[in-house]
Amino acid sequence: MRKPVIAGNWKMHKLIADSVATALALKPLVANASHCEVVIAPVFTVLKTVADRLEGSNVRVAGQDCSTESKHGAHTGEVAADMLRDAGATYIIVGHSERRQFYGETDESVQRKTAAALAAGLMVIMCVGEMLEQREGGNAESVVRGQLEGGLRELTASDLERIIVAYEPVWAIGTGRTATPEQAQEMHAFVRRVFAERFSPQASDALRILYGGSVKPDNIAGLMKQPDLDGALVGGASLEAETFAGIVNYKS
Ligand code: PEP
Repeated sequence: MRKPVIAGNWKMHKLIADSVATALALKPLVANASHCEVVIAPVFTVLKTVADRLEGSNVRVAGQDCSTESKHGAHTGEVAADMLRDAGATYIIVGHSERRQFYGETDESVQRKTAAALAAGLMVIMCVGEMLEQREGGNAESVVRGQLEGGLRELTASDLERIIVAYEPVWAIGTGRTATPEQAQEMHAFVRRVFAERFSPQASDALRILYGGSVKPDNIAGLMKQPDLDGALVGGASLEAETFAGIVNYKS
């Protein structure tokens, strides 16, 4: 049985007061959500405050990125994975398409960040997904395979327990254009096949694969009916506690 994960990526939104208010509003709304893990990813500067205020609740906190470097030192502007853990994060998002598109993230840096995050004891949500032209050119699977193989290179079977993959077609992120449940299912099944080839059928069966791209309270249930969909990574709709809770509570 794979326990679903519903994670909210707040991106570069919210000052401290708004972050705390949203987290505190979310807490009671999802308190009975034992069917899934609930995660929010605030900006670095509020991570500790939010994590402290959520202590004892079922809402976990994630970093949105981390340094490729584990060893503390002269890396101005970087935040090491163990610093995020120290601030209260238990999950981390790596390889988000916005970082790949606008901040020079590569499969190589995703792989190094993943290794750093695993060494710090974090659960890694590794994002993969094709651009619209790549899908239209018939290359969606080869792009996703390349991102998976690059990001997961050098991982061992024991690392896999702490890896979650988020399939996020770039054309569906923040556009209001969700992949259909069938399109998502097709790619999720493909991701699972790549894992089975690269690691083992057991590791592939246990892998949680989240869908991301314009997930909303009114489309989550249809997506979650797909057999290879194990949760969601939510951007815009995670910024408001009631809307995000409507996604988390898709079962009730
Ligand atoms: C995201 O950025 O990870 C995302 C899925 O965004 P949205 O839900 O806004 O499409």
